[in-house]
Amino acid sequence: MKSTAEIRQNFLDFFQSKGHEVVASSSLVPHNDPTLLFTNAGMNQFKDIFLGIDKRSYTRATTSQRCVRAGGKHNDLDNVGYTARHHTFFEMLGNFSFGDYFKRDAIYFAWELLTSEKWFNIPKEKLTVTVYETDDEAFSIWENEIGIPKERIIRIGDNKGAPYASDNFWQMGDTGPCGPCTEIFYDHGDHIWGGPPGSAEEDGDRFIEIWNIVFMQFNRNSNGIMEPLPKPSVDTGMGLERIAAVLQHVNSNYEIDLFKKLIQEAAKIIETSDLESKSLRVIADHIRSCAFLISDGVLPSNEGRGYVLRRIIRRAVRHGHMLGAKGIFFYKLVKPLIDVMDIAATELNQNRKIVEDTLKIEEEQFLKTLERGLFLLDQELVKITGTILPGDVAFKLYDTYGFPLDLTADVCREKNITIDESGFNQCMEEQRKRARESSSFSVDYSNVIKLDDKTEFLGYQDTESLGKVI
Ligand code: ATP
Ligand code: MG
Ligand code: MG
Ligand code: MG
Repeated sequence: MKSTAEIRQNFLDFFQSKGHEVVASSSLVPHNDPTLLFTNAGMNQFKDIFLGIDKRSYTRATTSQRCVRAGGKHNDLDNVGYTARHHTFFEMLGNFSFGDYFKRDAIYFAWELLTSEKWFNIPKEKLTVTVYETDDEAFSIWENEIGIPKERIIRIGDNKGAPYASDNFWQMGDTGPCGPCTEIFYDHGDHIWGGPPGSAEEDGDRFIEIWNIVFMQFNRNSNGIMEPLPKPSVDTGMGLERIAAVLQHVNSNYEIDLFKKLIQEAAKIIETSDLESKSLRVIADHIRSCAFLISDGVLPSNEGRGYVLRRIIRRAVRHGHMLGAKGIFFYKLVKPLIDVMDIAATELNQNRKIVEDTLKIEEEQFLKTLERGLFLLDQELVKITGTILPGDVAFKLYDTYGFPLDLTADVCREKNITIDESGFNQCMEEQRKRARESSSFSVDYSNVIKLDDKTEFLGYQDTESLGKVI
């Protein structure tokens, strides 16, 4: 059975054999793109090439890109622990054509890698594909050239009333490159709840999207008119952990070799024997995003990227506490993480000490208030008659005990309770008003995502600044 590390290497080798330049993953902090919170797709580092602003010596590239989808536009934080397929941190395998090949080659490459005996050897009947509803060209390639029965080629249209708001129509922004996509799904079997894409049960874990292939075919101008691009391009993304689940014959990403080892290590460190616990999965997920974010220069803080990081760390710490962790534990997972990530952890390994120290300080600080905050929350939860936690309680937890709103929501969700967010926001607004009035106040109470140069990474030469930011 192939390990996750081998699968990553196979992917890059396959596309290298098809004339693609193997390019290193870029940082999780997209330094040249202030519109983006974290790198969330393989194409991010190539954006300017697709826009025609930048040029490279190659027209085909392949990468295994580290991605974070927490906070910002793509936010999978709340899915972690609830679906078999979502992480806050994952690696996206991708192949890219910059005005070189287009639909036919992209589909043929994907199919060869997935199904040929020499490569991944996945039984063809386990795969279902989607195309954008009007993309007859892609439909015909799948049906007439690849030979997929037409019942397993699903046309996906726009959500009602919203033109091009479809899983199968990709756009970089309101203007610029855009185009239809074709996605490949794997059927994990009828013992798992879920239905094919486009059906009412598609959110289940049975049919899992493994690969998204985007055809950048048009350029949309400010009048909304789409002109065909003279040299259309291709951008694809396949989740490494999802394809590893398929090739290792397990039904959840959390059961692949890499996560199994990480979960076992976490259980040892926390001293729990409940290997099936949801909290262990959350912790194993969160150590990946937190360690790699810190390694890429993000530090916990009260705003912007640093606040997203702080929220993830605090959530992990709360889950460790639930499992009965004694004292600080989270930083101890950095070493096992480096071991399981193989070559993807080269930089993390170099930054290991700073990553561990940062996690230690953050956890120590939060532990001071975690227990008292949870005690308060428990007391409030037993008082509730309905299913809504009052906003002022959530605000007190935030303000006095350092509980980010989503952490409180995470606790409440386990008891089917939601938070009165508008009440919370009102308290926040009043707090801001008071802060403005007494201008000596120096804490920034805003937890909105603000991207400014405060999170600009200047390297770790100045370790003194670490204490200051925290
Ligand atoms: P989903 O519908 O399952 O949330 P997506 O459509 O949001 O996935 P894309 O934006 O198309 O995902 O990203 C390309 C690929 O990256 C997906 O096909 C999937 O294999 C992988 N992927 C996306 N989000 C995650 C995640 N949170 N964790 C792990 N893999 C992911
Ligand atoms: Mg998604
Ligand atoms: Mg999708
Ligand atoms: Mg997709």
